[in-house]
Amino acid sequence: MSLSADVLIIGGGLSGTMLAVQLLRLPGQRKILIIEPRAELGRGEAYSAVELGHTLNGNAARMSVDPDNPDDLTQWLTGHIAAGGWPESAEQNVPVSELFPPRGLFGVYVQQRLAEARAIGAQHGSSVEHICAEVTDLVSATDSVRLSLSDGQTLHGAYAVLATGMFPAARTPQKASSGLNAAALDPWDVTAMRLLDPQSAVLIIGSGLTMVDAVVSLEQAGHRGPIKVFSRHGLLPHVRRQPPAWVDFLAADHNLRTPRQLLRELRRQCQIASAQGIDWQAPLDTVRVHIARLWSQASDVQRRQFVRHVRPWWESHHHRSPPLSAQLLERLHGAGRLTIDAASFKRLEPSPEGGIGIRIRRRGESETRVVMGAALINSSGIEYDWRRVARPLPQQLLARGLVQPGPLALGIAAAADGSVRDAEGHASRRLFAMGPPLRGMWWESTAVTDVALQAKALAARLVSHG
Ligand SMILES: Cc1cc2nc3c(=O)[nH]c(=O)nc-3n(C[C@H](O)[C@H](O)[C@H](O)COP(=O)(O)OP(=O)(O)OC[C@H]3O[C@@H](n4cnc5c(N)ncnc54)[C@H](O)[C@@H]3O)c2cc1C
Repeated sequence: MSLSADVLIIGGGLSGTMLAVQLLRLPGQRKILIIEPRAELGRGEAYSAVELGHTLNGNAARMSVDPDNPDDLTQWLTGHIAAGGWPESAEQNVPVSELFPPRGLFGVYVQQRLAEARAIGAQHGSSVEHICAEVTDLVSATDSVRLSLSDGQTLHGAYAVLATGMFPAARTPQKASSGLNAAALDPWDVTAMRLLDPQSAVLIIGSGLTMVDAVVSLEQAGHRGPIKVFSRHGLLPHVRRQPPAWVDFLAADHNLRTPRQLLRELRRQCQIASAQGIDWQAPLDTVRVHIARLWSQASDVQRRQFVRHVRPWWESHHHRSPPLSAQLLERLHGAGRLTIDAASFKRLEPSPEGGIGIRIRRRGESETRVVMGAALINSSGIEYDWRRVARPLPQQLLARGLVQPGPLALGIAAAADGSVRDAEGHASRRLFAMGPPLRGMWWESTAVTDVALQAKALAARLVSHG
């Protein structure tokens, strides 16, 4: 069976869905197919969450999917709560704009925006259809793109967009950690966690926001035993507060380019803020809008410096924890139930008495040691290097020379408009990418606001070529 469309969107998470929304809103008649193996569009991994405790990491005021209306989510939530949805929101006791909604509810919001866009699109003859399958191969010709799907279908389109999101390291079998992946519990699987002895020790590798979610899941599952967290730097995410506005010092000074210059100036701004009794998060939050420019202007040497020296700090200070989750971590840490060690994971160790053992090396020590627990959760992050992603489409695209690794092998290389660069460096006229696959191009290319902006720009770009 063969279907054809104007735009083939590969992946129906937030990125693919928001691209469809933006395309449907634009005048003109076009047929859009979203190919997504999940049963529902608009959710992906992040917004398929079912626990109320798995919330967005920013409040409603920061998470609009409409770049032209920063209050879009707040307005939708206000109506949703007024209609009796999310009654637990009253417990947060803050205005709607300051609520941290459950990610599953955010998925409903995205789906509603898609439904509205469908109605707008229908007025000028545009449509979007969900094809529930995985794209396994792609061939690009001068005037079209052909996709092969896991169910045997073939699709043709004028354009294809890679909106394939992030490939979690935990699901990516790699030589060094395949045993780890097979042995680990899913950080979001509360049902599996309910089967654990509630008093048993749980080991977690990685200390970012996925770890925070895993601790929320354990609490939800009734776990009351020790939780031992190990990560290279032993840094926990800071809690997100609502700092006041701060002068956009990077807008005023375009001479700040290197990671070292940026850090020095940022520290200085934070000191000035602290001296005035203002939260350090205020100056830090002004940096966000400049990251893409700074990253894309930087040399590979500077990017490597950033990744090696600044990244752990950036992750824990910038990717902050929602307040309710942070309070839980603080409580467990204060009670001695949650410990965090700066240590690197070496390998799994046999555990004769059941449970699981891991060999770690603490920072600053040469000896390794074994730590035992009843279960292990791998929250060590995302696999951005497509050469290591064991899924058919990334492998085929690389093998066909249709894509090349992005800077520092983070995602894939693309031009500024999202057109993907082939192995020779030529920007495609047919194949585009958005969201996490462009990590190497922009560094921050994942959050709701990044994705929403890219969707709008890419929709305009595709239509202008149509
Ligand atoms: C657990 C979690 C929590 C997060 N929380 C926040 C938050 O609070 N705030 C924030 O700003 N950002 C958050 N993020 C970042 C988040 O990644 C983005 O907001 C958003 O999900 C990115 O959307 P995406 O569609 O690009 O990727 P994804 O959501 O990963 O969706 C990609 C989709 O592509 C599909 N796909 C992949 N390969 C193929 C293929 N070959 N064929 C067909 N389909 C394919 C997948 O099935 C998937 O559904 C979170 C991320 C995670 C993982």
